[in-house]
Amino acid sequence: MDLKIAHQCPQCGGPVSLAETDRFFACDYCRVRLYITARGPFHYRLTPNTDGDALVHIPYWRFKGVSYTLRNAQVQHRILDITRIAVPNNHLPYSLGVRPQAVPLTFVTAKTAGSFLTPAILLKDILDGIDKQLTHGEMRADMTRTMKPAENIERAFIGETASVIFLPVLPKGNRLQDGINAAMQYQTGPDTASLIDAAGAAADWSPRFLPALCPACGWDLDGQRESCVFACSNCSRAWMPIKRDLTEVKLGAVYRRMGSSKYIPFWKIRPQVNGVALETYADLIRYANLPKAVIKRWESQEMVFWTPAFKVRPKLFLLLAGMLTLSPPDNIARDRLRLSPAYPVTLPLSEAEESLKTVLAYLVESKRHVFEKLGDITIETKDSELIYLPFNRRGNEFIYEGQNIAVPKAALAHGKNL
Ligand SMILES: [Zn+2]
Ligand SMILES: [Zn+2]
Repeated sequence: MDLKIAHQCPQCGGPVSLAETDRFFACDYCRVRLYITARGPFHYRLTPNTDGDALVHIPYWRFKGVSYTLRNAQVQHRILDITRIAVPNNHLPYSLGVRPQAVPLTFVTAKTAGSFLTPAILLKDILDGIDKQLTHGEMRADMTRTMKPAENIERAFIGETASVIFLPVLPKGNRLQDGINAAMQYQTGPDTASLIDAAGAAADWSPRFLPALCPACGWDLDGQRESCVFACSNCSRAWMPIKRDLTEVKLGAVYRRMGSSKYIPFWKIRPQVNGVALETYADLIRYANLPKAVIKRWESQEMVFWTPAFKVRPKLFLLLAGMLTLSPPDNIARDRLRLSPAYPVTLPLSEAEESLKTVLAYLVESKRHVFEKLGDITIETKDSELIYLPFNRRGNEFIYEGQNIAVPKAALAHGKNL
């Protein structure tokens, strides 16, 4: 489900339609370039037919992304694309279904009329509940296997869009009338009455549109709609938004050897692994019990994680991260980078960091005794770089020259919708 938000250009007021994953905005009318951030999740509402103070807004969590679970010596993954009611209530719909696609969405600001409930149920609890239900279903469907209930070691959500969508309703006696379709009425009970009593004014949930200018040289930054790293073509620096500021991203690239390439971005993260001695590449080979003879040089070669810096389906994410972490590219250039054409960075560093234990788990899959101790490990980032690797187009795939790693073209297109 792809959601569209109706909005106006903050500079010229021209009407624009934003996708929920848009983080970079270039206005077709006035050409201004802005990046979009919010202090917490984005807050939207299904636009009501008539506005007014009497409207009460019921919050729903919106989640789209991949849930990775470490369980049974396996990394299990699931793509989720859901909405769920975020307050305890038995009378209102538990999901918004396809309505967020059918009804125009707008941002909620401090000026939006009506009263608002804030989520009382944590998104994490909702996702845990869904995971339990689905796992239970799979276990029942698979009676031939003797499965003892497996303990989850850990769960990570990656490539996610988490936001709040409000459903406006109008109290009418002991019923609630749907704010979009007056023919729809919801029954109420004591739970609804106490909910409505708790509703308050909208907070300042409006997103910030900030000028996408290079903090170093003042040049216009480049980005695509879903980009979360913006490039300056004037001084060859790259920037990512952290809170209200742009922070510089360290850049590197492995240069192409052959003709027409596309540069695809990856995060290279130097980790501090706590709970197990994983400092060098040799440590990693032994820890994951890989069929490789440790050579002397690896005893002093620092271990680093690599992950895609773009959203892609979970299987390919793990495959790419695993391959590059086990065979790290070298010959990285860091000066005077010319990276064109380059695929946009659509996976923020923070989410790549969140994925590190999952990547480690993927490397030790099926080594049960190692896998089951992953719960005791924590991984922090010492530092990070964004490295572009050259891929050559061959048929429907992009191939990394260095190591015969293939990324199907369609996988990049699908990833945009994750
Ligand atoms: Zn404009
Ligand atoms: Zn610059």
